Amino acid sequence: MITSVAHKASRMARCLWSIGLSLLAGLLLPSVGLARQIIRHELQVGLQPDHHTLQVTDSITLPETLHPSDAQLKYFALHAGLSPLPLTAGVQLVRQPTATPPVPEGGHASAGESRLPLERYAVVLPAGTRTFVLQYQGAIWHASPQQSPQDAWSMPEISGMLATEGVYLSGATYWYPRFDDELVTFTLDVQLPLTWEVVSQGERTRHERVNAATYVRWESPAVQEDVYLVGGPLTEYRQPAGPVQAMVYLRTPDAPLAQKYLDATAQYLRLYNALLGPYPYAKFALVENSWESGYGMPSFTLLGSKVIRLPFIVSSSYPHEILHNWWGNGVFVDVPQGNWCEGLTAYLADHLLQEQRGSATAYRRATLQRYTDYVGTHSDIPLTAFRARHSAATAAIGYGKALMFFHMLRQQVGDDAFISALQVFYRDNLFQRVGFDALRRAFASVPGQDMSEVFQQWVTRPGAPELRISATTVQPDGQDYRLSAALDQVQPGPAYRLQVPLAVSLQGQEQAWQTTVTMAEKHLEFTLRLPAQPWRVDVDPEFDLFRRLHREEIPPALTQLFGADKVLLLLPAAASAELKQGYRQLAQAWPQGSSQALEIRWDQETEVLPTDRAVWLLGWENRFLPEVATVLTSYGVGLTHEGVRLEGTLLIPEQHAVVLTIRHPRNPQQTLAWVAAQNVAALPGLGRKLPHYGTYSFLGFAGDEPVNIVKGQWSVLASPMSVLLTPAAGSPPQEAAAQLAPRRSLISLPLGGQH
Ligand SMILES: [Zn+2]
Repeated sequence: MITSVAHKASRMARCLWSIGLSLLAGLLLPSVGLARQIIRHELQVGLQPDHHTLQVTDSITLPETLHPSDAQLKYFALHAGLSPLPLTAGVQLVRQPTATPPVPEGGHASAGESRLPLERYAVVLPAGTRTFVLQYQGAIWHASPQQSPQDAWSMPEISGMLATEGVYLSGATYWYPRFDDELVTFTLDVQLPLTWEVVSQGERTRHERVNAATYVRWESPAVQEDVYLVGGPLTEYRQPAGPVQAMVYLRTPDAPLAQKYLDATAQYLRLYNALLGPYPYAKFALVENSWESGYGMPSFTLLGSKVIRLPFIVSSSYPHEILHNWWGNGVFVDVPQGNWCEGLTAYLADHLLQEQRGSATAYRRATLQRYTDYVGTHSDIPLTAFRARHSAATAAIGYGKALMFFHMLRQQVGDDAFISALQVFYRDNLFQRVGFDALRRAFASVPGQDMSEVFQQWVTRPGAPELRISATTVQPDGQDYRLSAALDQVQPGPAYRLQVPLAVSLQGQEQAWQTTVTMAEKHLEFTLRLPAQPWRVDVDPEFDLFRRLHREEIPPALTQLFGADKVLLLLPAAASAELKQGYRQLAQAWPQGSSQALEIRWDQETEVLPTDRAVWLLGWENRFLPEVATVLTSYGVGLTHEGVRLEGTLLIPEQHAVVLTIRHPRNPQQTLAWVAAQNVAALPGLGRKLPHYGTYSFLGFAGDEPVNIVKGQWSVLASPMSVLLTPAAGSPPQEAAAQLAPRRSLISLPLGGQH
């Protein structure tokens, strides 16, 4: 399968979240009870990049399905124009009248393969023949994938290319005959230009330069979903990482950069070997792509030139892509059952990284914030319906809800049982296509756990619980205190079974008193017996539950504008002609969420700010700026026409682009944002970048690109999940919540800590 980190360098800057977009094409084929139908290809390939052409001889061995005495009729699809001929006596090919590819059921409608020109053939095999040879040749030439700014939450498409800058062929290119949704094993012998290198899955068993050509052989004895052929004019670096060969292929030689990735490869393989079980391939290669991409294939990753050189990638996206060799590219996803691999990879790479840095709570809050702001009831789907991200809402479910599901499983069974269930899942399902059912079976091996209800409510049911706490009272009871309260689940539909974490701050104690209460109905009354007088109760203070957050638990942030159903954008009529033009163009290319009605107007056409929608205010000249400034004073921020100071940095109109979000002064359910820059050249880049800073309340940028220099969130002042109790007479005022018990990371080996 293909996964994608990100398209642009700017996306990486904010968004560990955007790592690992599922791009996939080959993955999207339905599996109709043929999971172990394995076809073997022995491919001999010549490449002429100057002419966009290739020649292939493919010796194909079909699985044993029919009695050897029966003649067989099989169908396959191949990229158009390759003119296949059978070289095996008695084998006939019949071109089929339709060129329609087998469009995958439930697949991504815009996946590259559905747009490719394909031809379909019937192959007639004599009785007893399972192996036959086809020869074909021709051109494969598609444009490099592009991504539009409006598509910022989605991913670029890819069909295949063969040109002087490089080759990219995958199952989705149909560059070899594809019969059905079959799994394959293969050998791949390639003759290519002298200065070229190519990479495929598995192990390289030949690498020779003879006369004016390079000869390379890759072998995959392990079952695969695709056959990749990827390369170009590349410089190779390698070093052993235990039994695995670490490899780096760069378009511009850079030994220090290569060394950094070779060392990181060894480090991550060690970590995930220890956590999950042995890495399933003979090598791992980082390949520099000719366009900006972030794809994770089995045993290699294909990253763009800018992405590779961003200093933090080696300790953020890179472990995510390596981990996909266990989840997605090792244990394959049976897509019709739902794509479980992105959530699990995000949990064990991105979340683990934050856990080791001590910021897992903030990461989970941001995860829940995206779900709360982006996923309305109309756009919600169960995890079983997630295929690949193609919007902010699908990402918030397929990555966010899924990673929270794995987090809750871990809380329920404990770290050791969680790890051993994942090891069982990996060992039992490697190189097979599986769904959430296989995960459930692996977790059912944990003693004393009935997983069917847990999986049912989180995996097959859309939506999320919403919690309320009420009726909190405290009674002295001898030396102790009794705290009583009620919890309600207020979401529509039936109750979720929840283990709700509670933290109670006690007078005179630094450490909070912590427990969980089991909630199986929509209403629960509970009483806690406490050793000292409580002064504060926090429900789910570390965001351990997947739930829809209260508006007041989330600071004003861009997610609320990008996720809003109705949006108004007000342009500054008083700006200079040049700026007005720049803002108008920015508005027309405005990044939109999936279900938005966006209206664009000039500020002078609007008397008062509407209270029934999210509003973007553009420009220092915007007539509603004084309303923004008034609200900002309550956040302790002063805004004048000279500038605004955010976290100690003064942002001034001539030099900086400023983005601020605030609650609507007359409707706290709505969010306003103000976006302003005097530098017209910065506006297009600002529009592209903003979706990747969704969870932030305020941002500052400098220069034409523009580069982010300030970012942050307003603090949440009054969460309804925190209840302050009346203090006892004469007790000192308490301001900060008590400390929570420290937590251990899932594994102590550092994930990128040394970079
Ligand atoms: Zn991923």
